[in-house]
Amino acid sequence: MSSEEKKEKYSKETQMIYGQAHSMKWDYNHHVVPPITSSATYRLDSAERGAQGFIEFANTTEETKRKQPILIYDRLGEPNKDILEENLAFAESGDCAITFGCGMAAISAIFGVLTKSGDEIIAHRTMYGCTYSLLTNWYPRYNINVQLLNLHDLDMLVSAITPQTRVIYFESPINPTLTLIDIGGIADIVKQINSTRPEDEHIKVVVDNTFATPYCQRPIELGADFVIHSLTKGIGGFGTDMGGVVIGPEKYRDLLLLYRKDFGGVLSPKAAWPVLVYGLPTLSLRVQRQIKSAMVIAEYLEKHPKVRSVSYPGLPSFPQYELAQKQMRNYDGEFAPGTLMYFTLKSDSPQESRDKGEKLINFCADNAYTITLAVSLGHTRTLIEHPGSMTHSAIPAEEQVQRGMDPGGVRLSIGIEHPDDIIQDLETALAQI
Ligand SMILES: *Cc1c(COP(=O)(O)O)cnc(C)c1O
Repeated sequence: MSSEEKKEKYSKETQMIYGQAHSMKWDYNHHVVPPITSSATYRLDSAERGAQGFIEFANTTEETKRKQPILIYDRLGEPNKDILEENLAFAESGDCAITFGCGMAAISAIFGVLTKSGDEIIAHRTMYGCTYSLLTNWYPRYNINVQLLNLHDLDMLVSAITPQTRVIYFESPINPTLTLIDIGGIADIVKQINSTRPEDEHIKVVVDNTFATPYCQRPIELGADFVIHSLTKGIGGFGTDMGGVVIGPEKYRDLLLLYRKDFGGVLSPKAAWPVLVYGLPTLSLRVQRQIKSAMVIAEYLEKHPKVRSVSYPGLPSFPQYELAQKQMRNYDGEFAPGTLMYFTLKSDSPQESRDKGEKLINFCADNAYTITLAVSLGHTRTLIEHPGSMTHSAIPAEEQVQRGMDPGGVRLSIGIEHPDDIIQDLETALAQI
């Protein structure tokens, strides 16, 4: 019996549910853009195919890499995010990439895979507020020790590493102050220490590269073991969806897949698709434009009489300008200092600094056409925010100052608007304070 004949035995109602199981309209080989997929589960032709699929899942071999996967269930793997993962690994010069539902899911996954009770994580003391909260509020409950250090001081790092240290974690540029960590310098220290340890006690260097994006910096090329990203930011670029990714050595592919299978935090194919189709293909174009604008805007702000300081890795006045030039390079090897800046306003007291920062941001929120008050970054639109009370509010105010944040510090993420228009809006706003 043909499937057409078989179908006729069933009610129209039922046929409307099943439709054409093998439609002639499916010809995915000739799509120019990959089709958006949406199938939580996958049809298995036989019990044997199902069993084989479970054998092959998270059991990657040279052979399984060469053939088409046996798809089973979205959380284990599905076309949109699997294709995106191949492209993300390529962008970061890593062996493999495993995506997650958001940046925080990716960060907790890499810690989950690299640590167990009794182990220790060393992290730079300034970082994204939720990562700070994850490390300080949650990991002590799991008996994972966390040391927050000033990783600008490499000698201090050497003396702080203990036999239990398994991970060194940091952002560079750091959210929100834009200061840098010497990725190659840390990788060299860790390499030396690892050479004296058995492999299962090796320390891994994990870099949150969200601020730079792979267009501006590829930590794995500089010696890091893993890179994580919030795809919600510069890689996604258009601000429509959340996502995260861990990129690292082939050896960790299966472990990360198993972790994602059991802990969840999976990236929806509907959210993977825009990153695959819009975000990643336009990353270089967008970031080139944003860097060009950021440079002009940082120079403008630096000269403005009401501005005390501008932290932008592209400015010759940037304290780590030399390091920026060494490690922030685009795919052609050109200097690529990123799309974000952090600036403070002249004031006589911390309170005045905070008041002025807030006034500026509120004025922009009400009046600026090209500057939107919103958290997030790496968007096509220029975004302004006050980290002290927003993205980094998990860090207590007095500690923020110790960690290099100013009470009135303003973070600006440059979009793809014409830079003159952004400057015009800043000029009007600065005139009000
Ligand atoms: C936003 C952000 C994250 C978290 O990513 P989500 O996608 O929001 O979970 C992590 N690190 C940095 C540097 C970020 O800016």
